Amino acid sequence: MSLMTDDVINFTSMLRMSYDFLHSGRKFNIKSNRKGKKLISVVFPFSDLVFAAKAIPIFPIRLEKFKVNTYLEALNSASGLFGWKAVSNFLGFIRKFDFLKVFDGIIDDVINSLNYKYNKMYDLGIEEGVSNDFCYGIKALYGMHSSRHNNLDANLNVIIRCSAFNKYYESLKRFSDKLIWLDIPPRNIGNALEICTENVKETISQLEKLTGNSITDNDLRKQFRISNECRELYREIIYEISNSDFYPCNPATFSEILALLSISFQDFNSNAETYLKNFRNLVKEMKERIRKKIGMDVSNRPRILLTPRFGGWEPESHNLIYKMGGRLLYADWEILGALENVEVNTYSDPAENYAKYLMDITTKGVGCDNNALTDSYIRVARKMDVDGLIFIELFGCHSISNCYTILRQKVRNELEIPTTALTFNKIGENIEQVKTRLGAFMEMFN
Ligand code: SF4
Repeated sequence: MSLMTDDVINFTSMLRMSYDFLHSGRKFNIKSNRKGKKLISVVFPFSDLVFAAKAIPIFPIRLEKFKVNTYLEALNSASGLFGWKAVSNFLGFIRKFDFLKVFDGIIDDVINSLNYKYNKMYDLGIEEGVSNDFCYGIKALYGMHSSRHNNLDANLNVIIRCSAFNKYYESLKRFSDKLIWLDIPPRNIGNALEICTENVKETISQLEKLTGNSITDNDLRKQFRISNECRELYREIIYEISNSDFYPCNPATFSEILALLSISFQDFNSNAETYLKNFRNLVKEMKERIRKKIGMDVSNRPRILLTPRFGGWEPESHNLIYKMGGRLLYADWEILGALENVEVNTYSDPAENYAKYLMDITTKGVGCDNNALTDSYIRVARKMDVDGLIFIELFGCHSISNCYTILRQKVRNELEIPTTALTFNKIGENIEQVKTRLGAFMEMFN
């Protein structure tokens, strides 16, 4: 897939993000690399309070060793000497002469080794006794904790609507007695906001106790400003750049970038400031390439939104859609409401503002009922102006995956675009079936 690698090699910020994603987590297995900071596992993009506590949030798969590290390690060493921009220019120069075929595999390796590791964690989850009835995401997360719990100082458990997910949180007691809970009331009625604000404050005190650091209002505001800018840049990619008739790269690469952003967004690669810097550079580079017409004309390709991706999906889908003449987009965090800004001003209580942000997610996305959730799918699909929608029905999911019947009806009535559902159990399983379903779906655009 050298076309995709060619595309990404010129994105310095993408190289850096990929490196940080795959490598920077693993170094935290060694205590001395944490510089006295506590390492706290997070799932879903809820790492703000951990950053504010001057601890290190980590999506636990990033503690694993990835096969691709040798290449990126070499690049990182070179970047230490010459800077990432110079490394990227150098790679671009080398490719013209086609000396080093080894670079062909870099980005593919990032995604492939991640998928391979996800499946490994899934297998480990099953070996460790997670019932086969649970979804892919839960099995893989359990496997991640089983593999790396010794390296973690605590887990931040943000309660969501899915009861299976909350059982998974409970099961972490097997590995750790340091579970920090943040409960979000399921409905925004009565004094729910007040309760949620108290819960945020309680979580803050638990983090303070664990880390020995006090979290001031200014610490919270500073972190929210960083996250808000990341969220704005993310929305800019989803709504503006993805809607462009000219892409800064091959559309399959674009999908890979969206997938990587979505996964890395959970812990900001454990360093919020660097993540923001890379995000800014990524958007800037994308816009520059579009302006200079470096990339690909995609005006004749239908834009397809695939969701939900976060609980497990077949990554081959975006290559298949690309080969079938379309472009596949991922926007889970926007659909689930996690890309809204947290209000930041000096006269209001930041804990309450964060509680409002969490409550908003509860009412619109991850914590809400199927009716509100399907409204969110429709809202985002309409705003993105997509031409089709693919819904992932996860084996073992009795919550989010249950809403396809309602969703299909709403898509028919309100958007009048083609829609289909794909079932998913494990990465790499049933590729032929996925291919057939997607082929039939894409026929509707011919
Ligand atoms: S909502 Fe479904 S996919 Fe998400 S964690 Fe729960 S069971 Fe898994």
